[in-house]
Amino acid sequence: MLTQDDALRIVGTVPDPEVPVISVVELGIVRDVTVAPDGGVAVTITPTYSGCPAMREIERDITAALTAAGAPRVELRTVLAPAWTTDWIGPEAREKLRRYGIAPPGKAEPAGLITLMRARTPVPCPWCGSRDTELRSEFGSTACKAIHVCRSCRQPFDEFKAF
Ligand SMILES: [Zn+2]
Repeated sequence: MLTQDDALRIVGTVPDPEVPVISVVELGIVRDVTVAPDGGVAVTITPTYSGCPAMREIERDITAALTAAGAPRVELRTVLAPAWTTDWIGPEAREKLRRYGIAPPGKAEPAGLITLMRARTPVPCPWCGSRDTELRSEFGSTACKAIHVCRSCRQPFDEFKAF
């Protein structure tokens, strides 16, 4: 039977499908992992944003990982409040994003003031650190990312948008 620590460690091996260098735990969406007396595991998650297509995949991957490790049943619970924010992404995960070539999110805007008129401080280039960068597109490979290009090293890069 899985212990609490086992279950947490296994959930911590499930990668974020959109940014596979960080796990769903590092992403900050896993609120709680509880093992019941019969070995069943309940995982509480807060989705990154409603309608994020990756959430289905994340739920499936967490269930598959725990089932493969011997959990007799897995229950996914969703908690919507407090809402997830990119501020929940820890410092180690931010460093991993940077090394992967994705600019980590800046400080999230106060609730309600999101993205329509984002104050545009330049996003530092994850490759060379230059602040001489320019926004190319608000939507990158996924809706959660924006595309920038660095004028110093000429590399395009994704920014994990703060929200
Ligand atoms: Zn650069």
